[in-house]
Amino acid sequence: MADGAGNNFDIVILGGGSGGYACALRAAHLGMTVALVEKDKLGGTCLHYGCIPTKALLHAAEVADTAREGEQFGIRSTFDGVEMSGVNAYKDDVVARMYKGLQGLIKAGGITVVEGEGKLVSKDTVEVGGERYTGTNVVLASGSYARTLPGLEIGGRVITSYEALTMSEVPERVVIIGGSVIGVEFASVWKSFGADVTIIEGLPTLVPLEDPALSKQLERAFRKRKINFKTGVKFESVKQTDDGVTVTLENGDTIDTDLVLVAVGRGANSAGMGYEEAGITVDRGWVPTDERLRTNVDGVFAVGDLVPGLQLAHRGFAHGIFVAEEIAGLQPQPVIDSGIPRVTYCEPEIASVGITEPQAREKYGDDNVEVLEYNLGGNGKAQILKTAGTVKLVREKGGPIVGVHMIGSRFGEQVGEASLIVNWEAYPEDVAQLLHAHPTENEALGEAAMALAGKPLHSHA
Ligand SMILES: Cc1cc2nc3c(=O)[nH]c(=O)nc-3n(C[C@H](O)[C@H](O)[C@H](O)COP(=O)(O)OP(=O)(O)OC[C@H]3O[C@@H](n4cnc5c(N)ncnc54)[C@H](O)[C@@H]3O)c2cc1C
Repeated sequence: MADGAGNNFDIVILGGGSGGYACALRAAHLGMTVALVEKDKLGGTCLHYGCIPTKALLHAAEVADTAREGEQFGIRSTFDGVEMSGVNAYKDDVVARMYKGLQGLIKAGGITVVEGEGKLVSKDTVEVGGERYTGTNVVLASGSYARTLPGLEIGGRVITSYEALTMSEVPERVVIIGGSVIGVEFASVWKSFGADVTIIEGLPTLVPLEDPALSKQLERAFRKRKINFKTGVKFESVKQTDDGVTVTLENGDTIDTDLVLVAVGRGANSAGMGYEEAGITVDRGWVPTDERLRTNVDGVFAVGDLVPGLQLAHRGFAHGIFVAEEIAGLQPQPVIDSGIPRVTYCEPEIASVGITEPQAREKYGDDNVEVLEYNLGGNGKAQILKTAGTVKLVREKGGPIVGVHMIGSRFGEQVGEASLIVNWEAYPEDVAQLLHAHPTENEALGEAAMALAGKPLHSHA
């Protein structure tokens, strides 16, 4: 193994986000020398512009709702408005503390951090500011960027999630183009903060990648919250003026608004970084890999959002750890996208893992799928929180649970057990044996399994 003397390392990692830094930390634990190249801030999108700041905003939104809704619980409270400077200070403080902690971990790991923009100049060498860093292995971890659509130029009142995180005021009216995870999370925040929100989604439902039961329930909940949405219709153009934006849809409808958030997905960040010149296959920006995260070039791996598939921070962590262990010869288990838990943190929250009912029907055939929807009407804690929702289990007939799909306030925290159930291929009969504490929302997962195993307790039709 290389000794890290000079600019030679066991691993050179290009990009210090979730995928890159997880790889660096695990490789350092395993005794390898590591150079981690980062042009912005260690922690990447998730820590600075993604998961952490958005979830801080969503928590502030929950506090606003709690203040507004106190009377329902016999508490005298009023919602007097949002001070964005205070919200941003709270959010930035959370990010700063996490950032400091991460920098400490990287330093303690003896990892060489190279600050600056890196370019792959050959299959084993990354150049940064004229200096070359060579690795026995190279890991590409350059992540993703907010995409837009033709005719939808970012600037002025048309923004992406990046700008949306640093707003000094709550917009009065906002149109969100894209009703998937990022779109519905910002819709939820801004509605709680008092804005008039409209989502435009080209596909027939909100959160179109989720099980249809969850899409339907989220739409119902958003209707109740007076979050407007138009589905199955595409945007055609936007026109900015000094005091507003007009959004025109393909069906001819127009909407006047103050701000447009473009949330139409994220593209892979690989342009101009020397990947193709080094012989690496790049497909519309993405770097395809095999199951062991190897690119087509020997000794070059790719991790995280750069690799086609789910764009989630914990997938990036798992990829990074996998690659470090693979290089160390530990023969780790591959990271399979279908087993990765997913949470959408709008109100109500969505948590899911495994395949949806339509996917199961396609995979096993209509007659070989069993489905159970447990209504939170029977769950004490959900009633205490005054939340509606569902736990839906999808099972291969006579076999294991292959999908868990949940919606309700605070349901994100329930995804852990759901993930164990699906990834350990548990049968409903197994889960039904386990005790779930009362009264918790977690109990709903146990009750759903009991009902699917044929012994329902608090199940309402
Ligand atoms: C608004 C938003 C909310 C999100 N919320 C969640 C969530 O709640 N949960 C979740 O799991 N995921 C969430 N995500 C997704 C998550 O942020 C990503 O999946 C994750 O950050 C991917 O990690 P990565 O390491 O692949 O890429 P990134 O985090 O994007 O890191 C790539 C790094 O590479 C650096 N880089 C790029 N090019 C170069 C270069 N040439 N030289 C040097 N450095 C370079 C970048 O500066 C960056 O730091 C969210 C994303 C967004 C945008």
